Amino acid sequence: MIKSEPTGARTFPEKNIVVDLVITGGGLSGVCAAITAARQGLKVVLVQDRPVLGGNASSEVRLWILGATSHMGNNNRWAREGGLVDEILVENTYRNPEGNGVIFDMILLDKVSQEPNITLLLNTAVYEADMQDASIIRSLKAYCSQNQMEYVLKAPLFIDASGDGVVGFLSGAAFRMGAEKKEEFGELFAPSEEYGELLGHSLYFYSKDTGRPVKFIPPAFALDDIQKVPRFSSFNAKEYGCKLWWIEYGGRLDTVHDTETIKWELWKVVYGVWDYIKNSGKFPEAETLTLEWVGMIPGKRESRRFEGDYIMRQQDIVEQRCFEDAVAFGGWSIDLHPADGVFSEKPGCNQWHSKGIYQIPYRSLYSRNISNLFLGGRTISVSHVAYGSTRVMATSAHVTQAAAMAAVLCKEKGLLPAAMGAHVHELQQRLLRTGQYIPGLKFVSPQDHAATARISATSELVLKEFPGEPLHKPLEVSAAQMVPLQKGKVPSFIFHAEASTTTTLEAELRVSSRNGNHTPDETVARQSVVIHPGRNCMKLDFDAEMKDSSYAFIIFHKNPEVKLHYTGKRVTGILSVFNTVNKAVSNYGKQTPPEDIGMDAFEFWCPQRRPEGHNLDFKTPGGLDVFRAENIRNGIERPTTQPNAWVADWQDAHPVITLEWDEPKEITSIELFFDTDYDHPMESVLMSHPETAMPFCVREYRIKDDKGNVLAEKKDNYQSLNNIQLLAPVKTKKLVIEVEHPSKDIPAAICAVRCI
Ligand SMILES: Cc1cc2nc3c(=O)[nH]c(=O)nc-3n(C[C@H](O)[C@H](O)[C@H](O)COP(=O)(O)OP(=O)(O)OC[C@H]3O[C@@H](n4cnc5c(N)ncnc54)[C@H](O)[C@@H]3O)c2cc1C
Repeated sequence: MIKSEPTGARTFPEKNIVVDLVITGGGLSGVCAAITAARQGLKVVLVQDRPVLGGNASSEVRLWILGATSHMGNNNRWAREGGLVDEILVENTYRNPEGNGVIFDMILLDKVSQEPNITLLLNTAVYEADMQDASIIRSLKAYCSQNQMEYVLKAPLFIDASGDGVVGFLSGAAFRMGAEKKEEFGELFAPSEEYGELLGHSLYFYSKDTGRPVKFIPPAFALDDIQKVPRFSSFNAKEYGCKLWWIEYGGRLDTVHDTETIKWELWKVVYGVWDYIKNSGKFPEAETLTLEWVGMIPGKRESRRFEGDYIMRQQDIVEQRCFEDAVAFGGWSIDLHPADGVFSEKPGCNQWHSKGIYQIPYRSLYSRNISNLFLGGRTISVSHVAYGSTRVMATSAHVTQAAAMAAVLCKEKGLLPAAMGAHVHELQQRLLRTGQYIPGLKFVSPQDHAATARISATSELVLKEFPGEPLHKPLEVSAAQMVPLQKGKVPSFIFHAEASTTTTLEAELRVSSRNGNHTPDETVARQSVVIHPGRNCMKLDFDAEMKDSSYAFIIFHKNPEVKLHYTGKRVTGILSVFNTVNKAVSNYGKQTPPEDIGMDAFEFWCPQRRPEGHNLDFKTPGGLDVFRAENIRNGIERPTTQPNAWVADWQDAHPVITLEWDEPKEITSIELFFDTDYDHPMESVLMSHPETAMPFCVREYRIKDDKGNVLAEKKDNYQSLNNIQLLAPVKTKKLVIEVEHPSKDIPAAICAVRCI
């Protein structure tokens, strides 16, 4: 029993923790950074002021994680980010295809708790920075309301992934809040004061059908007149959660210090909307619905952006400028919202896409005046306009992984963040090794024995045609088959079509004006084909040359009189795309921006989600010989300008790829990259997904040494990167990797093999 006599004022107990890296903010950015650094051996404290991890992605806020894949609604192909955030998205899709936010919370806790190098402090808020001098943080003070404990968190390096930038703010780091004028960076899309300078907060609600009538009596503070929301007629009984992202408010207030005021206004709107749905009489189908959940913590879109050695701007995104120090990439549209949010007469967002993904430089990831502070997530050094794109969670996490890896190198080299710039090549390589994709860069390592191996395989797919019976689908929207071609003469292709009347089909061969993009904005050749009643065999002999090895788009323009033949077979790096609309990301088939906002006009050609998204059933007599075993060591582990994967032949019953050396090599780690469909956005909540494991992903494999000993074996793989740490180093002249085809419709593929 504890019995305390009256005393003077008491203080809470204080606990000192000394680590290599303190990460403030356990949103997706902080989580990905913490795991990235911890796996590289850093002792990390991850301090999160709430009971669960995930920040805006958690069940407390329930935003779906998005990034460069952009709901599959723009021209960024194979653009899921890679590295830790990819591991989490793939894991979540496998364990939680229904998109249950509570399960997502659990997965994050599971991942973090498996890292012995991470000390996780939940319900613990950082509130003070102790400075060694004006530019160095010595420690942070934090308080946990659950255990009444004060923490002093001491480290040589800090990452601010708190969204609002609490560490940057307290330590005195230079920051910005609101929009730059057009003139500062020459950004033509910079908003006017009338449009507003800040993005507001949002609160979501979920509804549920109870199967019996449920009444709703609104609170006294609920919005009494729904017509105060100009777009009130868009509300309906079916939509909730992320779909109502435009219940937004606060862009004209201080989005940090006025947050509680903003929250009350949003509650007012949310309960007013539900009152309208339940009690206006306009939605009889809402009779049995109840409010299952209302957000208690507003999702914050924008607050402080800190200044690094470089401030990214609109042109970096639209022109896809290259940076020597690129460590991450983005690809969400530049997505600004009117500051009046839900009360604005204007559309809820103003989104403009670039033609492809863009690089993010290392210099935007640390404070320019606090020398041991990395910037993570929403706090990075970007203009308000550029922030319109970099702010989404997969991108935020991707950049913070890079900051974490930079912290690892800082520790190894005894450097501060700015000085790490001199070692950026090493930083890039360390990131690439974890699967972090950095456009334009390749993994190359003198320690990787795969680089010197003789590589052979029991088969290499030469794609001449797809086996099996075709599917027939009307050409109701323009369709294109993306095919990886080699520099030089374009080979001939044969497609099949059916029609009941005579008609003309317009075909076109297009490429991207920038190699590496997948926006078909350059026409190389055209061909008109007369289609007769019945089955037609169309031979397309484009008299054209490919300037580079890249994807070509064989386009068939819309003609509902015609049915094209498709196939149920799928192959890594082979994809069909369609010129359709995806309103969720402001894709109306073609982007036609006003002339004076500095955005490009182009068409959208996007894949369809499975179970649709079939390939056109083409034949090419010479065959597409682009799936060679050699690809496993080309340093790129996803399709870019070519598939970059070894793909076995369908007929090969037992595909095997072998790496051989004249002298035995000592191997401690084998890293295999599989195709988890980097086009799939894997939205984390609300939206469900038809598959748990991606259909291209090899599920079963076995790795043997030169004596036939099994070094590793897996039967239910679903992850992109399988990092196999051998119990003891193995000396061998040979690695034999046996794989099973993922299904009868999809041949086995390996994107990369590394032996280190
Ligand atoms: C309504 C809305 C819709 C959006 N739509 C999407 C979308 O569809 N998809 C998408 O990807 N992005 C979307 N975004 C953007 C995205 O959610 C944010 O930009 C993103 O959360 C940034 O990630 P983060 O990890 O930097 O910050 P956060 O997710 O905000 O995480 C920061 C964490 O730090 C914690 N923290 C704050 N202060 C402290 C402190 N003092 N001590 C300890 N911890 C602290 C917070 O509690 C929080 O958990 C949307 C944003 C909003 C608000």
